[in-house]
Amino acid sequence: MASRDHGPDGRGAPGPETQHRPVEGAVPEAARRRPEDPPIRNPDQYSLTDHVRKRLVQGGRYVTVEGVDDAIREGQLRWNTSDGWRFARVVDGVRLVVAVCDTETASPVVVTAWTEVADIGAAEAAERWDRTDIETIRLRSTLSERADEHVPEHIRPRDVPRPFYVRGHRLVTDPGVGHLRCVDCSGRFRSKGELDRRRCSR
Ligand SMILES: [Zn+2]
Repeated sequence: MASRDHGPDGRGAPGPETQHRPVEGAVPEAARRRPEDPPIRNPDQYSLTDHVRKRLVQGGRYVTVEGVDDAIREGQLRWNTSDGWRFARVVDGVRLVVAVCDTETASPVVVTAWTEVADIGAAEAAERWDRTDIETIRLRSTLSERADEHVPEHIRPRDVPRPFYVRGHRLVTDPGVGHLRCVDCSGRFRSKGELDRRRCSR
């Protein structure tokens, strides 16, 4: 019952009484849902992809189980025609975005999650984030948005002395320098595409 509580618009109703199932379960629930039906708000019913599990333990991603759960429970819900449903929740100026799928699989799945700076002033004022946290989040956003472009002009102003993890490399920046540097393999990178193509030879 709680799983049908999507919000005020009541889309999906009326539920046909004849299809009532005595046993509550994610499988039948998912099976009769359509892609445009808003996803359920119960984080306990979601499973995590391996991709998401890796993100939970990687430094500099700021993706946590608690954050994902809170976003599913009370985040703003957005529909994107190419990527489907996303929950988004801003905490101290930083938005955690959680992309989910709950109709193409047997049970709802958290497909991916990432952070982005929503309000730089609020983020800087918050105790939760230090300067390097904010710089890391901003740099990651730029790299993802322009994955195939060299972006030295966006890397140069960022100051990230604490390594963050992308595609197996542990990266830092040096102020005024227009590339990322891997502290393990000493590789230099100006785009996410370059990171994709070169494996870390630590
Ligand atoms: Zn490396």
